[in-house]
Amino acid sequence: MGNRVLITGGAGFLGSHLCDRFYREGWNVLCMDNLITGAFSNIQHLEGNERFTFIDYDVTNYLDVDGPLDLILHFASPASPIDYLEMPIQTLKVGSLGTHKSLGLARAKKAKFLLASTSEVYGDPLEHPQKETYWGNVNPTGLRGVYDEAKRFAEAMTMAYHRYHGIDTRIVRIFNTYGSRMRLKDGRALPTFFRQALKNEPITVFGDGSQTRSFTYVDDLVEGIYRLVHSDYVDPVNIGNPEEISILDFAKEIIEITGSKSDIIFEELPADDPQIRQPDISRAKEVLGWQPQTGRREGLMKTMAYFKEQVLNG
Ligand code: NAD
Ligand code: UDP
Repeated sequence: MGNRVLITGGAGFLGSHLCDRFYREGWNVLCMDNLITGAFSNIQHLEGNERFTFIDYDVTNYLDVDGPLDLILHFASPASPIDYLEMPIQTLKVGSLGTHKSLGLARAKKAKFLLASTSEVYGDPLEHPQKETYWGNVNPTGLRGVYDEAKRFAEAMTMAYHRYHGIDTRIVRIFNTYGSRMRLKDGRALPTFFRQALKNEPITVFGDGSQTRSFTYVDDLVEGIYRLVHSDYVDPVNIGNPEEISILDFAKEIIEITGSKSDIIFEELPADDPQIRQPDISRAKEVLGWQPQTGRREGLMKTMAYFKEQVLNG
């Protein structure tokens, strides 16, 4: 494989960490983003380097870039529930049309293609922990359906391009990931709880907080994706940290590690909010030799400095 990569959604939280990693590994990085939920500041430090190019573009349109491409990482998509609830049509379009255009470009350039899928394809799961062989429990017409179904379509489209056009494809199913460059107000539990705790404001737990999540530190995710790209494994692979915690205990943990005086208040549970979520990572262990290296507490401590700075500046 050559070393010219296109990263769609490259100015977002995960995309910008991938730009950093591939750049560090010596790749020529093209970052394409229309900045609807991302920020130029996430990749500003790479601008001006010979091996880095930023392209301001909406990937749901006809897609082309000059020169050869060896790899496409398709990460463009709103990802936090408040983002995709505010932008339901863009979310459906980038998961469907955006994936189609990106696959078309991979075909034209004979490039490898990796799709950023999600644990949301499992919906409100009836199997626990979730293995890649589980087909999921998604409400197609519910509010979250715009994201979940777009990603399910994207997976189907990726496999069709693999089977019909012989494209070399990968699918990563990403579980809740955190780290620097998350937006303080993206509405996800982790940045919201950090913001509230650092300001000593009430922590808003939705429902009774018994629903669970399993949080992955961003460097671990990036390592898993890097290994998946270099493997020859085509079926979906879960990348996530199996350490599971209830949202109520998670709120308490954030209060403790920030030394906050915040109280916990309970608000209405959003519709179709998954009750449980935990990756089975046997496949990633077996085919990639991957497992997370960063425990939740250690990862949260590392991320706290970033959130403190954000709270101070904003
Ligand atoms: P993010 O919102 O920070 O990044 C998404 C990026 O895509 C943004 O920079 C946005 O501007 C860009 N984008 C959206 N629509 C676009 C379009 N039509 N054309 C060009 N760019 C567009 O979100 P993130 O957390 O970094 O998520 C990145 C990817 O990873 C998404 O595909 C998401 O579904 C997936 N994912 C993330 C998580 C997580 O925990 N963060 C979990 C599962 C899956
Ligand atoms: N959540 C919460 N308070 C908040 C934001 C989210 O209790 O201020 C809950 C949310 O209902 C869900 C969990 O935290 O059960 C994780 O939500 P997030 O938006 O981070 O991710 P997702 O639901 O996509 O896993």
